[in-house]
Parts: sequence; C-alpha cells; structure tokens
Amino acid sequence: MNELRQLYQEVILDHNRNPRNFRELDCDCQQANGYNPLCGDQVTVYLKVKDGVIEDICFQGKGCAISVASASLMTEALKGQTLQSAQKLYHAFHQMMTEESSSQNLGKLAVLEGVKDYPARIKCATLAWHATDAAISQNQAEVTTE
Ligand code: ZN
Repeated sequence: MNELRQLYQEVILDHNRNPRNFRELDCDCQQANGYNPLCGDQVTVYLKVKDGVIEDICFQGKGCAISVASASLMTEALKGQTLQSAQKLYHAFHQMMTEESSSQNLGKLAVLEGVKDYPARIKCATLAWHATDAAISQNQAEVTTE
C-alpha cells in the first residue's frame, strides 16, 4: 500500500511539474473559471466541443500541486469524450472524492483518491472539474436557445 501511495504521489508531482494541456484556447470555445478561496487555487478551463464531443480541452491557472495535477489529469481523461460521458466521469470522480468507499474504476484519476485523507484539500482536487461542469452547462444552455 505504501508503494502504491508513493507511486500515486509521483504521478501527482509529475503532473504538477509538467501539467498536460496547460495553455489557452483562442477559438470560440466554452470556458469557465474556478476559484478555491480555501487554498487560493485558480483555474480556467477551455473546452472546444463539436457534435457533442470534447475535441480539445485545456486549462490555465495557478495553485497548489493537487489542484494543478488534478486539472492536468482531468484534461487527459476528458479529451475525446462525449459530453455525456464527461458528465458521468465528473459525477464518478466527485463520488470518489466525497464518499467513504467507492467502487469507481477511474483509471489514472484514482491517484487522487488519497487526497480524501485531507478533507481540506478535496476542493483543490475537484476545482477544475467544477469549472469544466460549468463550461459544459454553458454550452448546453447555448444549444437549447438555438
Ligand atoms: Zn489547493
């Protein structure tokens, strides 16, 4: 278990040092900001959605290692997904982070489950997901008004 913990920690540190998809998207895309006042984490998520599929997703921001690593892992997990499965993943991730035991199979995202032991940091891990959820809802609102 300790070895697994260590491995998980290494993945988090790696994603913090070299965040994936860390850039702005300068097209007409959805975007949303997230701010976690408890820790000072800031994140902006950019989504490019076409035909209900997330063609591109990236983020910018600054914050603690957990918030950056979580956003980085999230962009990797969501790129190429349909909005529907993205939202499923969001709920599954949220469940993993907030419920005592979860049977979710979240692949690489599972490295963040250890954050549960530090309740004050859970918001760091879920911040980018909340922002993405907001960006997706924005998109759906636009779709329904057309
Ligand atoms: Zn944080």
